[in-house]
Amino acid sequence: MGEPPNGQPYIGVFARAWAKAVAGTSYLPMTHAQLEALLQRLTDLLAKALRAEPLDLRVGHRVAQELVAAHIASAEALGRTVEVIQLRLVRDLDLVADDIEDRMARLLGAVATGYARALRDRTLDEQESIRRAAMTARAEAEQALRASEARFRHQATHDPLTDLPNRTLFAERLAAAVDAGNGRRVGLCFVDLDRFKRINDSFGHQIGDRALVEAARRLRRSVEPHLVARLGGDAFVVLVERSTGTGDVVAVAEAALAALSEPVVVDGHDVTVTASVGIVERRTAGTSPDDLMRAAGSTLNWAKTAGGARWALYDAERDGQEQARQELSAAIPVGLERGEFFLDYQPLTSLHDGSLLGVEALVRWRHPQLGVLRPDSFIGLAEETGLIVPLGGWVLAEACREAVGWASASGRPPYVSVNLAVRQVRRPGLVQEVRALLRRTGLPPDRLQLEITESTMMSSSEEPVRALRALAELGIRIAIDDFGTGYSNLAYLRDLPVTELKVAGEFVRGLRTPEARADERILASLVSLAHALDLTVTAEGVETGGQAERLRAIGCDAGQGWHFGRPAPPDHILARIR
Ligand code: C2E
Ligand code: MG
Ligand code: MG
Repeated sequence: MGEPPNGQPYIGVFARAWAKAVAGTSYLPMTHAQLEALLQRLTDLLAKALRAEPLDLRVGHRVAQELVAAHIASAEALGRTVEVIQLRLVRDLDLVADDIEDRMARLLGAVATGYARALRDRTLDEQESIRRAAMTARAEAEQALRASEARFRHQATHDPLTDLPNRTLFAERLAAAVDAGNGRRVGLCFVDLDRFKRINDSFGHQIGDRALVEAARRLRRSVEPHLVARLGGDAFVVLVERSTGTGDVVAVAEAALAALSEPVVVDGHDVTVTASVGIVERRTAGTSPDDLMRAAGSTLNWAKTAGGARWALYDAERDGQEQARQELSAAIPVGLERGEFFLDYQPLTSLHDGSLLGVEALVRWRHPQLGVLRPDSFIGLAEETGLIVPLGGWVLAEACREAVGWASASGRPPYVSVNLAVRQVRRPGLVQEVRALLRRTGLPPDRLQLEITESTMMSSSEEPVRALRALAELGIRIAIDDFGTGYSNLAYLRDLPVTELKVAGEFVRGLRTPEARADERILASLVSLAHALDLTVTAEGVETGGQAERLRAIGCDAGQGWHFGRPAPPDHILARIR
């Protein structure tokens, strides 16, 4: 093996020996050939450095750096590298110089230092990259978590059908708006589609759902940027967080109504609906989300009862009255249970001989807070809510119970006249209830009169008429109360089981004045018509002797009013009978 000009074969020999020494000391991400090529290049660098003047120690550093970069980085690899260089480099490359030993030692020192430095750098790099990887991983995990939290929160705060904010989110935003305080104002539009149930009923829920989605979309667009939430069903609410006055919120409501009233066609079906809006607008100070929602709900009701397709604005006075009514109606069952209701009786007096023909039972309520209430303040309520059924049942039973005791030793005992509300007459069980009551109390049927209004008889259904017929057949008297204030149609009375007409006080009042001759003539013909139909006539609201006299002259059979006696407790009636 002669020495070639560039010394390559010798370098190759050494590099092979070096590769053999380090192979297997650590995992190397390269083939053995690649390793040999690398080490050959490094051997060349080392050889050149040892020959050069002055000795450049940076070559040692660089060689070490490259070794470490190539993952020849274990302590063992370093040891073997130092060893093989020390033992073989000078010999294999046939290096000659006086100070070759010294140069060799210094270069090896540089390799070792470079090694240490490169290792440290690599460790730092690795730590850094681990740290970075960890940070990235954590950031990603956090983001994923945030994303899933956001998704979860979105689900929890949005309506799945329309993707509008739901009740929960709306409640949060409303509470925040109210809390904002400091002279701020807040507004609500409570939006409800009119007769939306009809869409579902006629086209099915799928089309109904799509109509709702469309309504939600329009609503959101029309009132942007205000928050629109779906409260459920076809009810939505718009929050005007910083209102400057009623006008702001009315404008929002009008925009919403306009957008909703545009025609909507789903699958070829016209699903256009109108909407109603209840508007509340007020200062945040002194109000609460609950107050606002309740007020908006009541106001929506006003818009609905006014026919829908409109907005209504909150009115504290009206709301106050309604609330009072509501409280009052809620107190009726309690009052019944506690015996707060009682009856007064008012004489029905014969205009022919002044005898006591009957007494009308008039209910009163001794309300624990409000004092004694007249029926006008609670009967209407009781009728609306259906509470008239238990209340009227109590009145009927109480009146019958009391009337039994009016049987006098001499003369005909008076009948008791009880007012019946429409709802009571419509109830299927009425006839049985009355029959059982008469049996229980022992009151003869002809000593009970039931007063009903004209409207009860005008009802489209046959049921009330059939019930009254059954009652009349039992021998009970039937009177039409307040005649003249309603339809005043005598013709239909011919076929009805009615025994008496009670003419409303309005007609009687006119008798006072001489100019009211027309009233008197009307009354006179009414009386003769009634008589032709075999009905007796009782005039209500007779307040003076003059009126009583006129009525008698006209031919009225009986009178009721202050002139004959005010409504009074039952002992007054008893005293009068005895
Ligand atoms: P109504 O059946 O027409 O009863 C007559 C009303 O006229 C009573 O008022 C009576 O106090 C009043 N009145 C009697 N005489 C005079 C008079 O000379 N002048 C004037 N201005 N008024 C007179 P009240 O007791 O307040 O009853 C009002 C209405 O409440 C009754 O009118 C009746 O429709 C209803 N009502 C009373 N009790 C009951 C009941 O138990 N059930 C039902 N469903 N309604 C009842
Ligand atoms: Mg009456
Ligand atoms: Mg009356």
